[in-house]
Order: sequence, then C-alpha cells, then structure tokens
Amino acid sequence: MSTSVLIIDDSVTVREQIIRTLETFNLFTRYYEAEDGLEGFKKLLSSPVDIILCDLEMPRIDGFKFLSMLKSRPDLQDLPVLILTGMNDRERKIKGLEQGASDYITKPFDPEELVARVKVHLKIKKLQDELKRSNELLLELSNTDHLTGLFNRRYLMEALDKEVQRNTRKGGNLSLIMLDIDLFKQVNDNFGHLQGDIVLKKVAVQLQKELRSYDCAARYGGEEFVAILPDSSLKEAVFVADRIRMSVQNTLFNEPLAKLNLTVSLGVSSFSPEHTSTVDRFIKEADDALYRAKAKGRNRVEFHSPEGVNISDGNS
Ligand code: GH3
Ligand code: MG
Ligand code: MG
Ligand code: MG
Repeated sequence: MSTSVLIIDDSVTVREQIIRTLETFNLFTRYYEAEDGLEGFKKLLSSPVDIILCDLEMPRIDGFKFLSMLKSRPDLQDLPVLILTGMNDRERKIKGLEQGASDYITKPFDPEELVARVKVHLKIKKLQDELKRSNELLLELSNTDHLTGLFNRRYLMEALDKEVQRNTRKGGNLSLIMLDIDLFKQVNDNFGHLQGDIVLKKVAVQLQKELRSYDCAARYGGEEFVAILPDSSLKEAVFVADRIRMSVQNTLFNEPLAKLNLTVSLGVSSFSPEHTSTVDRFIKEADDALYRAKAKGRNRVEFHSPEGVNISDGNS
C-alpha cells in the first residue's frame, strides 16, 4: 500500500531535510512538496496524502490560513497536520493546535522525534480509516434507507423471500406494488438535488401512510419504491396503489417546490406459487406493469394480470 506525505514550507532546505529524514526511515512511498499554503492545498486536491507537515510562517498563504482552508473541506477533516514551529513559539503552537493541527514539531527538528511523531499520527489515521470503513459497512448492512427511513433494498429482498416461502407453504394472498416517481430527473434539474431529496422523503411518507402496519415499504433504488402487501389480493393491492397515486398527486410542497405537480406511476403484481414461482419473476411482473404505466402516460396504476384472474369481478 502506498503512503504519502505533503511537506509545506517556504524553505527548500527545511523541505529537503525533512524528506531526507523520512526517507531514511522508509515511511513513505510518495513525497509531495509545496512552498506555501495555496500550493499545498492545490497539491492536496490533486493528490490525496496521508499526513501533512506544514510550516506556519510562509509568504502569501501561511500555515494558519492553510488550516482554515482545510476546515472548509469535510472530506479533509481527518487528515493529520503537523505544524512546524520555532522552539519558543508557545502561542503559535497553541493557536495552530486550536485551529485543527494534530501536533507540532519544533524547528530545528530532532530527526528521531520527527519520525516518532509522524508514526504516531499515521497510526491514528490508519485506525480512523478502519473505523470509518467498518461504519460504512455497518450502514450498508443495516436495514434502513437513511434518506427516507424506509427499509432498504437488502431488507426488502429478505422480507420478500420469506413472504414468498410462506405463501408457497400456506397459500393466501401476497401482492407487490412497485412505484417510480414520474419525471424525477426534472425535479433535480429544476430545483437541485437537495430539493429532490425532500421530494423523495415526502413520497416515502405518503407511501407509508397508505399502507397497513404489517405491509413492508422499502426504497428499492434511487426514486423507486416497493411495497409488499401480505394478505392482499391483486384487486386490493391495485386499490391501495391507486390511493398512493392520488395521495402523491395531492401532496402539498413548500417553496421552492410549491408549484411542483408531482406524480408517480405504479405497477402491481400478485404472487401465485403455480404461475409466479420465483421472487425475481414476482418483481419483474410488477416492474413490467410499472413500465406499462409509464408508457401509457404516467400518473397511473397498471397490474400484471395472470390468466384466470379478472380484477373487475372480485375474483382475484
Ligand atoms: P420517468 O418518469 O420515466 O421515471 O422519468 P425520471 O426522470 O423519473 O427517470 P430517470 O430514471 O431518468 O431519472 C431518475 C432520476 O433520479 C435520476 C437520478 O439523478 C435521480 N436520483 C436517483 N437517486 C436520487 C437521490 O437519492 N436523490 C436525488 N435527489 N435524486 C436521485
Ligand atoms: Mg517559513
Ligand atoms: Mg426510475
Ligand atoms: Mg422516475
């Protein structure tokens, strides 16, 4: 694995001394240099590093300004910065640490101390990175979609598997509603992604509102939602789907979305062990119906009609 360091100092001599010291101990595979804060910041954006050694006193953009530039970037918050200060620079050491530096090294530096401090901070950084990675993994493994609070796709697929198995064993009704927001790309394009996210949350609320407590609603993908309706016939599920459709159509939004006429299209399918047989097929039938709803002009409900099922006579 490659490990890299950025050394920011207006003195070429200091930079060379530091690099030579670090090279002796084989700590890094890549060394980047900059002669002031701005150049350092630019280098950082083009080549991410693991640690920064930064002089405080430099022409133009000095170490303090560099630290405040770092603060403005959430993705660079955890990057260790070791400031290089004069021996008796008590106040500036403190100020630097308060502004986000992880540690300081006094100049002229003692090579072994420099290396020891760099090692400590690389180790902390490594632990932090591992923690971040495992948190991301946990998030991925969890059951909820973090934007809408609905279940996520992973959970949905597990729940659907169980319902299908149960239905195959015990019979009864099991239906699926797939919902896709109409022309959602335009919402993002016209109002921005943040407003788009607000719309997604609103749709999730409307969807949940129209379902019973034992139905399962999930965010299936970007702007697609799926609901599992145990004990609901195709006819009943189509009825619910249409209620969801109307509920979204009647949703009121605050500015800047007040004039938005949001609609959704929905596809419904019902499981039957003989005809449907697999979870994938079950989903595909709802998806195909959804596709037809889009093709027929959006803001409507379509359903998969298996042979022998007539939705209009209550025989579903
Ligand atoms: P259609 O009626 O045919 O479904 O049109 P559409 O514009 O809704 O369909 P399309 O699939 O072209 O666009 C979906 C958009 O959803 C594109 C993508 O940028 C957006 N999107 C996906 N996930 C998110 C998200 O988490 N937040 C926001 N704001 N937008 C998202
Ligand atoms: Mg200097
Ligand atoms: Mg879509
Ligand atoms: Mg869409």
